[in-house]
Amino acid sequence: MNEFYYKEIDENEVDPLKIKEANRVLNFCKNLLALPDLRIQWYVKVEKESFEKSHSILFGEIIRNLERVNKYKEEFCGMVKVVGHKNKIFIRADILLDGIKRTIAHECSHHSNFRHYGLFNDERRAEGFAREVMSEINNY
Ligand SMILES: [Zn+2]
Repeated sequence: MNEFYYKEIDENEVDPLKIKEANRVLNFCKNLLALPDLRIQWYVKVEKESFEKSHSILFGEIIRNLERVNKYKEEFCGMVKVVGHKNKIFIRADILLDGIKRTIAHECSHHSNFRHYGLFNDERRAEGFAREVMSEINNY
């Protein structure tokens, strides 16, 4: 069975270009969705041994809460956990820049859908929003 492990990293461990572009997309989405206090918590995929040594407790909790992620053998590029992490979206740093941008928009949409409307099963909405943001953001 495939299992995936992740750990949180600090912003200063992330490629500065990714940070710059990420903030551009994040600010765009924050304005659009009225999420003034939202910020990014970066994470990367790690090997199991490294995960166990990292004491990455917050993220460990997320993984446990989302056992289906392992069960379905899926990797994921972003995460929202509204309970306990009201002002954060979790974004993977070790993917391509375009993937990061799309994921930020996607997770911002989930965050907004939950906070403003109490919506959970909003995958299609989040995808649609991410697609729109990507086309907007590349036009200025
Ligand atoms: Zn989603």
